[in-house]
Parts: sequence; C-alpha cells; structure tokens
Amino acid sequence: MKASQDMKADVAEVLLTEEQIAARVAELGRQISADYAGHEVTLVSVLKGSLPFMADLMRRIDLPLRIDLMEVSSYGGTATESSGLVRILKDLSAPIDGRDVLLVEDIIDTGLTLNYLLRYLKGKNPRSIKVCALLDKPARRLVEIPLGYVGFEIPDAFVVGYGLDFGEVYRNLRFVGVLRPAAYES
Ligand code: 5GP
Repeated sequence: MKASQDMKADVAEVLLTEEQIAARVAELGRQISADYAGHEVTLVSVLKGSLPFMADLMRRIDLPLRIDLMEVSSYGGTATESSGLVRILKDLSAPIDGRDVLLVEDIIDTGLTLNYLLRYLKGKNPRSIKVCALLDKPARRLVEIPLGYVGFEIPDAFVVGYGLDFGEVYRNLRFVGVLRPAAYES
C-alpha cells in the first residue's frame, strides 16, 4: 500500500483535532502533576506510536521526572489487528525498582499488548505502576485492565495520526483520524 502524497486525502473523518488533543494533554499533565506531587515519576513510553503523546505530555507535567523508552512488536496478527503475542525489541535502559512508573501508551484496543507489558514491568518491582493512554477503544477489549488516565474514548475504528500509523505512514499527522478503508484495502 502506498499513502497518497496528500495524506489527509486518505482520512475519512477527523476524530480529534490538534487543538482538542493539546487541550486534553494539558489537562492530563495537570492531573498527573497533582496526583504525583512530592514524588519523582518515571514515564515509560512504548515506541513508536506513543512518541508524540509522550513528548507533549512530559512537558505538561510540572514535576521532576525521568523517561525511558521501550519498543515492542506484535507477532502475527494483521495490519490492523494485534495478536497479543508481544516481542520486546527495546527494553528499558535503567532499573525501575522502587520507582513510581507511569506507562504512557498511544491506544488500548484489545488490551493484550498492555496486559503483557504491565506484567513484564511489574516483574521489575516498581513502587507503583499506572497506565496513561491517549486513546481507549473499549468496544474491542479482551482483557480488563485498570487505566489510570485516559485521554479520549473512541469508537471501534482504525485510526491514524498523532503517532499512530498504518504501514508505518501517517504518524506525523497532527490530528487523529479514521483511515478510509480504500487506503488499506488497496
Ligand atoms: P492491543 O494489544 O490493545 O489490541 O493493541 C495495541 C496496539 O495496537 C497499539 O499500541 C497500536 O500499536 C495498535 N493499534 C490498536 N488499535 C489501533 C488503531 O486504531 N490504529 C493504529 N494505527 N494502531 C492501533
């Protein structure tokens, strides 16, 4: 599949505008700053989809913080469905034992990836661990996981933009939109 030169032409509907995202990320940052006041939080983000969210959120948190990055990929599945079998491509670069960890995720769909990651990170003995997800697609959840912070609940549609890709493209769109089926059926 080749994206159109005008990426926006492949988007059927804008679900969240740049302004809506920025406003919500600022709110999340305020809430996290209040909840973790007096503590040093470690934000762990999962490449590549969470990159813009992480970059914006960390600058809205008014506390001393550390960041770390992981990268995972799903085995199998299809281009628009995750299989839940997760492979760690890049692990944490520093220990998190005794730390207050906030796992920063782009989107929770079936919850299988997050379920795996949480179990993996809990095994590293953090003092606490919570999840901050920009997008939540509850309609497709297979594993129930408590989400500490959620940016937006969205309907069951395949979305791209603000870090989210299709075939590695569209991550640099500043909004979140629903891809035209023609863009992934071709
Ligand atoms: P889960 O394991 O919760 O089903 O899927 C999580 C991962 O699947 C996300 O981190 C993301 O990489 C991918 N994913 C799930 N839904 C979408 C979507 O609507 N759009 C895009 N681009 N990726 C998605």
